[in-house]
Amino acid sequence: MRCLVVADIHSNLLAFEAVLSDAGPCDEVWCLGDIVGYGPDPNECVDLLRSLPHRTVAGNHDYAAVGMVATTSFNAQAREATEWTAARLSADNREYLEQLPLRITAGGFTLVHGSIHSAIWEYVDNTRIALANLLDQPTRYCLVGHTHVPTHFREVSGLGLLRRARERRLDGNPTSFSLDSARSILNPGSIGQPRDGDPRASYMLLDPEAGSGEVRRVEYPIAVTQNRILNCGLPERNALRLKQGL
Ligand code: ZN
Repeated sequence: MRCLVVADIHSNLLAFEAVLSDAGPCDEVWCLGDIVGYGPDPNECVDLLRSLPHRTVAGNHDYAAVGMVATTSFNAQAREATEWTAARLSADNREYLEQLPLRITAGGFTLVHGSIHSAIWEYVDNTRIALANLLDQPTRYCLVGHTHVPTHFREVSGLGLLRRARERRLDGNPTSFSLDSARSILNPGSIGQPRDGDPRASYMLLDPEAGSGEVRRVEYPIAVTQNRILNCGLPERNALRLKQGL
């Protein structure tokens, strides 16, 4: 099976379209949450995802946009974009976001937005947090988003009872990986708002049966999305950071 793994689309339709066209035909799209938030195209992104054969888990921005979680931990720009999104979501897309599950198991992988321990809030962004989750995950492999940084964490056996996790950044030029018997957590990076210093949209192609795949980056017209953000009256910072990839 050829599976397209995406995360953190964040209402950036042009980035999402660029990824779909670059990825080519896929059997399924696995989406790790945060379809909306920050960007100017919430309905368009949800509609496009729903038009594809897909499985999706909820992200914190998805639940926040439909009032299922509070935005108290959000920064000012994220909160403003959440209110803007909430006011514009179609009834149908609101219902769709409300019913998204926190966790899905597919093809031997557990899909979650944040982590196994905290489905929509925890950032798996270091080896200590990764190891704690690796030891508790119900499947050997787990796919996460939320950090917006494409990464592969892998359990490595140390001396005696010492267990460690190793971190590898998947810079996506493209960067291939293969999965072995070790527990792993993979993050495809963000489509709509990368935060690893590379402004190109990030995504993953995965063959779950073979346990192999790659992370790729693709250019999209960032300036057009930036203008749409500004024209919508969304915070300027949401536009500026797209160019920086931070
Ligand atoms: Zn996000």
